[in-house]
Formats: sequence, structure tokens, C-alpha cells
Amino acid sequence: MDKKILTLHGFVYIMDRMNIFHKLILFLSILFLCIYVNAETSNDRFVVVIDPGHGGNDPGAVGRKGKEKNINLNVATKLGKLIERNCNDTKIVYTRKSDVFVPLHKRADIANSAKANLFISIHTNAVARKNSHVRGTETYTLGLHRTEENLEVAKKENSVILIEDDYKQRYAGFNPNSSESYIIFEFMQDKNMEQSVNFATLIQKQFKDCNRVDKGVHQAGFLVLRETSMPSVLVELGYISNPSEETYLLSDKGTSELAKAIFNAFLSYKNNITQTKTTGIKKETTKETKAEATKPDSNSKPVFKIQILASDKVIPANSSQFKGLKNVSYYKENGMIKYTYAEDEDYNRILQIKRKTVDPKFKDAFIIAFKNGIKINTNQAIKEFKNNK
Ligand SMILES: [Zn+2]
Repeated sequence: MDKKILTLHGFVYIMDRMNIFHKLILFLSILFLCIYVNAETSNDRFVVVIDPGHGGNDPGAVGRKGKEKNINLNVATKLGKLIERNCNDTKIVYTRKSDVFVPLHKRADIANSAKANLFISIHTNAVARKNSHVRGTETYTLGLHRTEENLEVAKKENSVILIEDDYKQRYAGFNPNSSESYIIFEFMQDKNMEQSVNFATLIQKQFKDCNRVDKGVHQAGFLVLRETSMPSVLVELGYISNPSEETYLLSDKGTSELAKAIFNAFLSYKNNITQTKTTGIKKETTKETKAEATKPDSNSKPVFKIQILASDKVIPANSSQFKGLKNVSYYKENGMIKYTYAEDEDYNRILQIKRKTVDPKFKDAFIIAFKNGIKINTNQAIKEFKNNK
């Protein structure tokens, strides 16, 4: 009998001898086990929030024939469908699925309460008619603008809050039209910065591959990105103010291509992360980071560096991409090679180098920090630097 338990024959024998009540209990136990296992796995699902900008009584930018809100929704819906069809390990949450108005803070709330892993805000750009030749795609992450153009994009997208009822209380006196309001964004290089820039870089690469004009990755003070607590980007699909780009943005071909490009970038980004999670590549990466980082630091003070570029390919040291900067070093993270310039324990000195030497060449450079050769949160490092003084 003992031996029979181990065999199928034995199982059938036991089932035969069980009464209906025991069979029911066995069946229910198996059912609960399945539900439990399923629930466990669904907790591991990657959650992406897709945020089609504007909607309802807020049309966004308006072109000769179309409105931004509809273009954004079309691309968002197509992107969602691609993810749904191809990634059954991903949960998709939309901030809106139809033509309705959703306040900026509500969009961020939706992402935060969904505990999202990634936030993609989709927008369409516009400039004054006299500049109707301006065209191209841009992807933004949160930060302080380095050019007036970037500030203008943030102002335009943030001005949506003026039609929210309680915006003064809600955004603590933030005036979307005043340049001063944007100064706070200088200190918003949070822990998600690198990942956001990574993803933004991947998106722009895809846009370029499908023959869009690549206007690059930028930083600016977008309220919707400020309120979200996960890696977040804001995509500007193109200029509705440019007649030929508007035609493209309003076409089925155009929105499908743009959605596909964002989807491809999403796949690479997610694969990098999953790889890190499941294969332990992160450990190796940390070791590599350590090797590349700094001289061994006995008193373990944070070391600051300026990140200038990220690429999925190795760039030769004499490349014109470094715009004449010498002694560029790099570290690897999440499958990307990240290039840095200068290093110093003195944050103020690094800040000066950044402003004098780096900013004029790399408008979207930012400061990162290492401790004992391992990358740490920049804000934390600045705090430590100030305490050590
Ligand atoms: Zn917009």
C-alpha cells in the first residue's frame, strides 16, 4: 500500500476508496492552491501606465485639421494593444480610455496607486504658426530645463492645471507660466532618473529608426512627472503645427508606426529589467560599475560625476559624440553604457565643472554619485557631502 501511494495506480486506488466528501475536499484544496499560486504570480506582473495627454474640454495643441488629445489617445490605445497582445506578464493601466478630462494630479495618483513600474505620458507638440517648419520627436524626463525651448514645452503641458478647479491648493502655489516656479526642478534628480533617461533614450532611438526627426532626450519640469513615483517619461510625438507632420500624426499609418516604436522601446527596457532580476546580471553590473567607478575610497565619502551620454553601443574615446571632452569614463547599467565626465568628492566643484564645461556641450547632463564604487542616490550623496563638511 505504501508503495502504491507513489504511483499513479496508487493514486487511482486511493481515489476509488475515498468517499465523495473527501474527494470534494481534495478538489477544493487543489482549486485554492491554484488560485493562490496565480495570485502570487500576478503580483510579479510588470505594471505600465499609459497616459494619453489632455482630453475632454482640454484639446491640447490644435492643428489645422486635428487635435492633440485625439492623436495622443490613438497612439496610446495602439501601444496598449501591442503590449496586451505580446506581453502577458504585463498589466496595462490607462489614465483615460476615452475623450474625457483627467487632471494632472489624478493621472499621477492612478499610476502611484497601481504601483506602476513605468509611466508613459503621450503628447503632441506645437509651436507658433510662423515656425511651422519645426518638426520632430522628443522625449522628456523630469528635471530642470536647459533651454528656453524645453521650458516652453513644460509650460505648455503644465498650463492644463489652470482649468482644474482647485489648482492653487493642489499644486501649492505653482504657477505654470512663471519661470521661477520651475527652479525647484533642479533638485529633482531622484532615484528614477537613470531609468527614465534609459527608457527615453530607447524611445528616441526607435523613432529615429522609423525615420522621424530625432530631437533627442531632454529634461524639463513637468508636473505630471513630478508627482509619479516610478520611472516616467513624457513623449512628444511630433509637431501638429507642421502641416506635413500633422498629416502623418492624423494618419493610421503614422499613429501605428509611432505606437510600434514606443512598444519596441518598452520591450527592450522591460527585458533589461527582467534580465537583471532573473539572471543576476545586476551583480555583475555592480561589479563592473565598481571597477569603473573611482579610486578605492577608504573613508567612503560619496564621489560625484557628471553623466553626459547613455548608449547601447560602445563609443570610441575619440568620437565626436563627446564633443571634445577628454578622459570620459563609463559604467554599465541595465544593459546600457553610460558615459561620465570628471569626478570629485566636492559636490560644489562638480557643479561648477558641469555649469562651465559640460552644460554648454551637453544640455541634458546630470550629476550622479558613487560610494565605495557603487552608484547611490544623488540627493542622498549631496546630503552626506553637506554633513561631512
Ligand atoms: Zn500635451
